[in-house]
Amino acid sequence: MSGQFFIALLNPGMGLLLGAAFLLLWLHRRDQRYILLAALSYAAMAAGFLILDFAPILPFELQRLPANIGFLAAAYLLVAAAIDRYRLPVPWRGMAAVCGVALAFFLWFLLVQPSITHRVLSISIALGLLALRLPLALRGMPRAHLVDDILFWVGVLSAVNFIVRPLLIIGLTGGFSSYAGFQQSIYWTTVQFSQAMISILFALCLMVAAAIDLMAELRQQAESDTLSGLLNRRGFEGAAGTAVRAAADEDRPAALLIADLDHFKAVNDTHGHAAGDAIIAAFGAHARAHGPAGMIAGRIGGEEFALLLPGAGLDAARQLAEAIRTGFAAAAAGAIPASLVPTVSIGLAASLPGAGLSQLMRDADQALYAAKREGRDRVRAFTPAPIDTLRAAS
Ligand code: GH3
Ligand code: MG
Ligand code: MG
Repeated sequence: MSGQFFIALLNPGMGLLLGAAFLLLWLHRRDQRYILLAALSYAAMAAGFLILDFAPILPFELQRLPANIGFLAAAYLLVAAAIDRYRLPVPWRGMAAVCGVALAFFLWFLLVQPSITHRVLSISIALGLLALRLPLALRGMPRAHLVDDILFWVGVLSAVNFIVRPLLIIGLTGGFSSYAGFQQSIYWTTVQFSQAMISILFALCLMVAAAIDLMAELRQQAESDTLSGLLNRRGFEGAAGTAVRAAADEDRPAALLIADLDHFKAVNDTHGHAAGDAIIAAFGAHARAHGPAGMIAGRIGGEEFALLLPGAGLDAARQLAEAIRTGFAAAAAGAIPASLVPTVSIGLAASLPGAGLSQLMRDADQALYAAKREGRDRVRAFTPAPIDTLRAAS
């Protein structure tokens, strides 16, 4: 058994392993179509190499046809997978047309005017054109992660590898006159080596991308509240803390509203927990619908909500608070009987120079307490205590 035998096993073996890995991953992430496309692509690649290197020779070397269909299908599916990962439109038809034309040329140079060199060029250039679709698709898109840049450049590298390498080698060595020695040719050895590298690179990029997607999804789940559709306390504190610091750095104001539903316990006690839940959901929708773009909204307690308004001063915050308070009954009317809709008390505070989110939350909470104490269903703003009161208190 020659060393070439084992080298020939490299690509089909790797294709089968990577295909199986993507298939396993897809079984756990069935909503991610691109992972299945990648699994099919690696299976097609493995099949192509197995047929080309190990299948029995057919009349007119016809086994070359399914092998090359395997290679074209592998490139087609892998490029589709990478584009689909970004939810960009996959150019299915354009890529199918490239494959169709390549196969027509291939059959012509197999059956009508036999030429290995032209067959190699037909398929390889088509593979390059398919690979080129990936950087073309990703070109205008903001690439948020390093892996997005790497995928872009792997696409470029594959295209160069498929188009420039055969032209160079054929130019230098003068093409192939027969299949005798093709498997040992420099051309085929460079195919086996470069294809192995590119396959691994593509697979690693797609797997890292899948991991990044999963982590983003888990973070999003961990930071949001499904009932209100807003952030939960943890998500709110993270996002609002960052926004307050950014506003302070840019010397811009920020204001915070804390809203609490009045006598909410009584709603639960008399109408049941489900009615209470419907009210919480209605308030979340109401706050989202009224808030300006850039507002960070969270449900920070059972029936307590925080809305941070980066860039807003106390007056704008008070206007929004009044709109939310007075508009809630009408906004919730569709979802719950009018008699159940509770009133809302809101405390608000504006950021002071140098103060962070926790100070803002303490101030708004104090204002909310004042609103409750004064009879509920009202908006109160935090007013810093005069210096003498502070002195008296201490
Ligand atoms: P106040 O006007 O002083 O705010 O009175 P309140 O009854 O609204 O306040 P309290 O803090 O006494 O009660 C809050 C209630 O909110 C108690 C709890 O049963 C209810 N609650 C907390 N989380 C949920 C939830 O997720 N769903 C429902 N339905 N009720 C909840
Ligand atoms: Mg309450
Ligand atoms: Mg409360």
